[in-house]
Amino acid sequence: MPDRLIDLRSDTLTRPTAAMRQAMADAQVGDDQYGEDVSVNALEARIAELLGKQAAVFVPSGTMANQIAVKVLTRPGEEVITGGEAHLLWHEAGGASANAGVQIIALGLSGIFTAAELRAAYKPRGHMVYPPTTLVVIENTHNRGGGVIFPQPLVEEVCEAADALGMTTYLDGARLFNAAVATGTSPRDLAAPFRMAGIALSKGLGCPVGSVIAGSAEDMVAARRQRRLFGGAMRQAGILAAAGLHALDHHMDRLAEDHANARLIGEHIAEARNAELDLATVQSNIVVFRTRPEAPPDAEVIARAREHGVLLLAFGPRMLRMVTHLDVSRADCDKAGTVVAGILDGRS
Ligand SMILES: *Cc1c(COP(=O)(O)O)cnc(C)c1O
Repeated sequence: MPDRLIDLRSDTLTRPTAAMRQAMADAQVGDDQYGEDVSVNALEARIAELLGKQAAVFVPSGTMANQIAVKVLTRPGEEVITGGEAHLLWHEAGGASANAGVQIIALGLSGIFTAAELRAAYKPRGHMVYPPTTLVVIENTHNRGGGVIFPQPLVEEVCEAADALGMTTYLDGARLFNAAVATGTSPRDLAAPFRMAGIALSKGLGCPVGSVIAGSAEDMVAARRQRRLFGGAMRQAGILAAAGLHALDHHMDRLAEDHANARLIGEHIAEARNAELDLATVQSNIVVFRTRPEAPPDAEVIARAREHGVLLLAFGPRMLRMVTHLDVSRADCDKAGTVVAGILDGRS
């Protein structure tokens, strides 16, 4: 087995760069729960500004950002609408129902849905038997959909419809910066239709830890309280915030390279006879594809790829995921795409 692995299982696998570690070592810190960590305060102000919101709160994970948002924006017994295969539904251990006492319904399969679908699924408050639908969550980019971008005109339409129905809105923007770079739209414009938005620092931006949630000053007071309730309030977290500030300065524009590399992988996979991939879904740094029955089983594809030094993830039955990030080069991705396509077609 090659001694260096090309790890495409997730963009969370990046290690902090030497420069990022230096920024962390140099960070000014204080007690964040007293509001005295200048690095955390700077990061929160920077993200609030980037997303065009009044305030922001630094949290340990994207899952906690989502859980806080749902908790702040709903009451038990209410219903939350999101797109099919949302992170909130699949990857948070049932947290929304356990923590906020809400039920979630999913519209469509791709992660993308329309205002008409929202209106059709909406249940009003005050009905004798319905759970009132009070929150809509949009995931952009959409992870399980293969990193697809929720088209902004549709975002605006859905959020306007939600507003008109008296619902509120949250953007799960764990990979919002990928959507911004891929579309050339500012994060501020992408977040504008939403009451609250969360972004991850630990994905494409390459930080070891952290997400940030942003919204009105009043909502962020509530979010800060919920962060404490969930056990996510931290102390000298400036060491982590410094990584975030460094990443905003140095790792944002390069996301375009990740997108080009994902495209390269996608082109290799799309050429494989035994793969099913619509290249139109490869819009950012994620390639999710299905394999035909003629291809080896998932576990075998993964094991054989590992022998070639390439790691990828099983995402469902005959569904695999490869994600690009700052720790893999174009040459790595060229090799990985070639290797995996070869395995699927029984050539390597
Ligand atoms: C990764 C991810 C999260 C949460 O991430 P953590 O692993 O909890 O930091 C939330 N939403 C989406 C869409 C994600 O991809």
